[in-house]
Amino acid sequence: ETIGENLRRTVQRFPDRDALVSVYQGYRATYRQFWEETSLVARGLLVRGVKKGDRVGIWAPNRYEWVVIQYASARIGAILVNINPAYRVHELEYALKQSGVSTLLLARTFRNADYVAMVRDVRLRCPELRQTIVIDDEWGALKHDALRFSEDELARLERDLQFDDPINIQYTSGTTGFPKGATLSHHNIVNNGFFIGEFLRYTDADRVCIPVPFYHCFGMVLANMAITTHGAAMVIPLDNFDPLTVMRTVQQERCTALYGVPTMFIAELDHPEFQAFDFSSLRTGIMAGSPCPVEVMKKVQKDMHMPEVTICYGMTETSPVSTQSRTDDPLEKRVTTVGQVHPHVEIKIVDPTTGRIVPRGTPGELCTRGYSVMLGYWRDPHATREAIDDGRWMHTGDLATIDEHGYVKIVGRIKDMVLRGGENIFPREVEEFLYTIPGVSDVQVIGVPDVKYGEELMAWVKLRPGVTLTGEEVRAYCKGKIATYKIPRYYKFVDGFPMTVSGKVQKYKMRETAIQELG
Ligand code: ATP
Ligand code: MG
Repeated sequence: ETIGENLRRTVQRFPDRDALVSVYQGYRATYRQFWEETSLVARGLLVRGVKKGDRVGIWAPNRYEWVVIQYASARIGAILVNINPAYRVHELEYALKQSGVSTLLLARTFRNADYVAMVRDVRLRCPELRQTIVIDDEWGALKHDALRFSEDELARLERDLQFDDPINIQYTSGTTGFPKGATLSHHNIVNNGFFIGEFLRYTDADRVCIPVPFYHCFGMVLANMAITTHGAAMVIPLDNFDPLTVMRTVQQERCTALYGVPTMFIAELDHPEFQAFDFSSLRTGIMAGSPCPVEVMKKVQKDMHMPEVTICYGMTETSPVSTQSRTDDPLEKRVTTVGQVHPHVEIKIVDPTTGRIVPRGTPGELCTRGYSVMLGYWRDPHATREAIDDGRWMHTGDLATIDEHGYVKIVGRIKDMVLRGGENIFPREVEEFLYTIPGVSDVQVIGVPDVKYGEELMAWVKLRPGVTLTGEEVRAYCKGKIATYKIPRYYKFVDGFPMTVSGKVQKYKMRETAIQELG
C-alpha cells in the first residue's frame, strides 16, 4: 500500500473525525478537510514542476503545514527530505547537496534564525536546488496554483506509484557523529506506523499530543503515521518543546496519548506547576529515543495518568521501530525492557566480533531484518554495505539482551561502552543507579581516557533546584551499593547536557569537553 492509498481509506472510514489540530496556530481539520488540503498542495507542487522521485526538502519546525506537505509529497511520489530546524548554513548546505533537493519548502524564520537569508547564502552552491517556497508567504498561492492541475490527473498519477518507491530521506539524529540519510519507502513507513498504532490500540477516539519534532521519525512515523493509519487525531501544541504548553494542551484538547523523549517527561514532571494540570484524559503514549530511566517510567505511569504508556526501540534506518511494549504488558516489563519485536520483523543478538548468536541473556549487538529495513543510505553504497549485510540484516550498533519470553533490554551503544581495567561497564546501568540518589534530577555517564585503567568513568549530574551535592558525597552514597569499579571517579555538576534537537544526549560531545577539561 502507498501512503496515499492508506490515507484515502482512513478518510473514507472517518471523514468527520479530527485529523489535525495545531493549537498555537489555531488550525483544525477533519480527515475530509485534511485530504482536500493535501490534494491542493500536491497539485500545487505538480504545477510547479515537481515530479515523482524529485527531492522535496522541508525545513520548518512543527506546524500544520509540515504534516500537509508530508502527505502531499507522498501522494505524488516525491521524496521528502526532512531538514532539522536547528541546522545552520553549514549543515543545511550538506543536506541539500547530499540529497539533491530541487524544491525546498521553508519557514521564514524560527527562533531568531532567518531561514530565508540562510537559504540565499547557500543557494549558489547547490546547483540542483531549482526553487524555494516560503510557507508563511506562499501557502495560499501554492494552493491557488493547484486549480491549474485537475484532480483526475492527480488520481491517475497516484495509481502509478509503487509501494516500494522511495519517498523519504531521513537523516539520523547525529548522536554519535555526522547524520546519515536513510532512504525509506511507502512500504517501510506505512507498515511501521500501522503496527505502532496497533500496539497502542489506537482508534478514531484517540487524540495524540505531539511535542516531538516532525523532521525526526519520532514525529513523522511514531506520531503521524501511527495516527493516520487509525483515524486518530494529531495535536500540535507548539513549534518547539515547552513543558507548560504541553501540559496545557493535554488538558484543553483532552488528549489520550502523549509522546516524548525521557528528558521531556522529566521536564514536565519537575515543572513547578505540574500539580495544577488535569491529566485524566490520558491513557497511553510513547517514551523513546534514548534510554528511559525506570523511575521516570513509573512516575509517568502513575502521576501523569498514563497506565498504558509504552516504550519503543528502533532507529531511523528501520523505519524506525523494531521492538515495543504493549499497553497490556505487565508494568515491570514496560519499565525494564523495550518490549518485544514487532510483527513481521526478525531480530537476533550476535557477538559483534564473530557475528555468532550469543546465548540467551548475554549482551550482544542487536541485528534486525524485515520489511522495516531502509532501502539504503542515500547516495552512500559504502555505508549501506557496512550497515546491512548480505543476509539483509541491519546491524544496529546497539548492545541488547533478550529474555526467554522475547523481551528485549537495550544495554547501550557499542560506542558508549566503557572498558575499565579489563571490565566492561555499561554506562546505562550506572546511570540507573545514580538516578535513585535523592536530589539528582538527571545524570549521564561517560568513559574518559585514563593512563592506569585505559578508561575511567565520569558522571555529569544535574541536580534538582536548591540541592547541593559534591562528588565525594555521591561516591560515599554508592559505596557498598554497586561494585567499586562502577563508581564514577569524576563528577561534573551541570545544568544540562549537549543534545540533539530531538532531545538526545550527545555523549561524544561530552567526551570531547571532558578530555579538554581533564587536560
Ligand atoms: P546517529 O546514528 O546519527 O549517531 P542516532 O543513532 O541517535 O544518531 P536515531 O536513528 O534517531 O539516530 O536513533 C536511534 C538510536 O537511538 C538507536 O540506535 C539507539 O541507540 C537509541 N534508542 C532508540 N530507542 C531507544 C530506547 N528505547 N532505549 C535506548 N536507546 C534507544
Ligand atoms: Mg544511529
